Order: sequence, then structure tokens, then C-alpha cells
Amino acid sequence: MKDSRRGFTVVEMVVVIVIIGLLVAVAIPVVSNQLEKVQANACAGDREAARNLVAAAIQLDDSFLGSLYDGEPWDTVAGQLRGAGAYLTDISCPSGGTFSIEKGDHSVSVVCSKHTGGGDIDIETPSQGLLKDFISYLEAHQGQPNSDNSSMRGKFFEENGNKWPTMTIDGGDGTVYQYEPFFQTNTRDPQNTWLFARVGDGTNLLNSWYVPLVYDPIDDVWYQRVRANGTPDNYSITSFANTQSLHDEVSTSRLWKAVRVTYLK
Ligand SMILES: [Zn+2]
Repeated sequence: MKDSRRGFTVVEMVVVIVIIGLLVAVAIPVVSNQLEKVQANACAGDREAARNLVAAAIQLDDSFLGSLYDGEPWDTVAGQLRGAGAYLTDISCPSGGTFSIEKGDHSVSVVCSKHTGGGDIDIETPSQGLLKDFISYLEAHQGQPNSDNSSMRGKFFEENGNKWPTMTIDGGDGTVYQYEPFFQTNTRDPQNTWLFARVGDGTNLLNSWYVPLVYDPIDDVWYQRVRANGTPDNYSITSFANTQSLHDEVSTSRLWKAVRVTYLK
């Protein structure tokens, strides 16, 4: 009788070892791919949490946005948030990547050095915010008697505590400008609204035609009126037929110079 309990032959052992080896070779990348996916997902979730915190902080305090800079490490941002009283659990990349701020003109994002993807938070500039509020105000009062520019500006000013917001020009001489909405009543379209700014501390409701600075809502840029020699002209008289013609003029004329501004309270 043949011994049925005989061991494996060398060939059988080799075959088994080779098969196990093949399985392991296939399984390790599958497992590590899965692990990478899990870590990438966890990282994306942490970056989203970080972005949400940043968005909330900006909503609570405009100046927080100004304090963020492109490339700022997340740790410093987190430190600022903690300093302001936010309760922050550890937000970090599970693969050891480092988080930092990516700041564009109209967006803020939290990026990872090891993982990509994830959305930006769109940031509304104070200019866009004021314009949006004024357009909503116009829309709510459409068709009422006295819905012309000066009446609407006047009422809006009153409702905002008799205050216009203020700003300075970056790289300028520190002059404070108050900025205000203007509605081109002739068009009867609340979208034909833009902002202008003039020297002032924000308490002045003067309906004058002097427009040293205008805001182009189409590209969210402030333009300063300059003389032919390039020096600022605070006493130019300007009017535009509608938002589009404003955009066309300021973005092409040498008498309007695009400027960056810093928003004050
Ligand atoms: Zn990461």
C-alpha cells in the first residue's frame, strides 16, 4: 500500500512557494494602493475642515483674510485661530504632508504638499459685498417713486448707519478714501451699478461728480483717475452709460490706472 501521508515533493513545495509569492506580489500593491486612497481621502477631509474654519473666520472678521498670505503654513494659521478662541482638533495630512495656504485674488485654499485636489473657498471682496448689497436694495425698491440714484444712495447710506466703508491705495500716500455705490438710473437696470471712491472718512454723503477712483465690477478691480503725466487726479468728472462701457473705458484708457487697495473698517 502506498503511504498516503507522504510529504510534499520538492517540486510541489517550489510550486506552492512560487504561487504564494505571486499572490503576495499582487496583494501588497493592492493593499498599499488602498492605504494610499484611504490616506488621500482622510487628507482631503482634513483640508476641507481647514478651509471651512478659514471661511468661518473670514465671515466673523474681515481682517482675518488680510492677515493670510499665500504659502502661509497651516500651523501658523491654526495658531492664529486658536489665539482667537477657536477650538481646533489636530488637522493634518495622514501621510505626513504639510498643509499651507494658497491665496488667490478671490480665493483661499488649503493645499497639501503630498496630495492634490480639493476646492477653493471663493472670497467676496468688500467691494463685491457692498455692490451686491446695494443691488439687492435697488431690486427690493424697484419701481417705487424716487428710486433714482441719489435717493437710493441716501436711503442705503442711512440704513447702513450713515457710514460708507473706507480704503487706502496700496503703495499710495496713505490717503483714506470712502467708497460708495452708484446706480446709473437712466438704464433702469439695477445691474448697471458700480462703485466709486473719493477722499473721505466714510461719514460724508456728498453727491458730487468728482470721481478719483472707480470700481469695475466686471473684473473686480479699482482704477484711479490719473492725469496725462500719470499723477492722480482727484477732480476729474466722470460718468458712464452703463457697467459695460465703464469696463471698456477703464480697462483700456491711459487715464485710468489699475490699483490695488487695502480695505479698512
Ligand atoms: Zn496630504
